[in-house]
Amino acid sequence: MRVLVVEDEHKIANSIKRGLEQEAFAVDVAYDGKSGFALALAEDYDAIVLDLMLPEMDGLEICKQLRASKVHTPVLILTAKGQLYDKVNGLNAGADDYLVKPFAFAELLARLRALMRRPKESLGSILTIEDLSLNTLTYEVTRAGKPIELSKKEFALLEYMLRHKNRILTKDQIINHVWDYDADILPNTVEVYIGYLRNKIDKPFKDRTPLIHTVRGFGYKIGSDK
Ligand code: CA
Repeated sequence: MRVLVVEDEHKIANSIKRGLEQEAFAVDVAYDGKSGFALALAEDYDAIVLDLMLPEMDGLEICKQLRASKVHTPVLILTAKGQLYDKVNGLNAGADDYLVKPFAFAELLARLRALMRRPKESLGSILTIEDLSLNTLTYEVTRAGKPIELSKKEFALLEYMLRHKNRILTKDQIINHVWDYDADILPNTVEVYIGYLRNKIDKPFKDRTPLIHTVRGFGYKIGSDK
């Protein structure tokens, strides 16, 4: 899952980025309102963490303009202590949730996860297909009851695919949701990681249905059949 953090206090922005990366998210940071808004419009994020008081363009304005531009990415507003007035304004401007500074990182993470679970299918914290299961809270992945060790990127890729199971995902879609803006992506990066996943999820379970499929010319899919 890929998150945009718009926050002018570098310390806070960078610690959120580090924390989220620890949790296998891809994270981009903008330190002012204008570049934050531009990124939010141009890229396909799964959630946006948005500070209210920002140079150049404030958080409320960004939120309003995003909604006016039909960008419906979930927005979590960060507000300074005591700005009760802003919370209401934020929700009215189209934000989905807010968090009062200073906050515990664990709470930010929990709220972000809740926001990203919201899409129509209302997926819980355990994503499954056939006998494969991935727990987004404990990071446990098992197939046929056997634990599978994944790297952070492998986990992020599998989580994204499971959130869109039985659908063909293009390489671009995968890159946009699993890697951040500054990541070094080579033409075969996605292929390589799909290979890593196959080696862990399908290859050791030869008597079971293969779950990861290549759809020639289109992309990849996780599903019980081709
Ligand atoms: Ca600020």
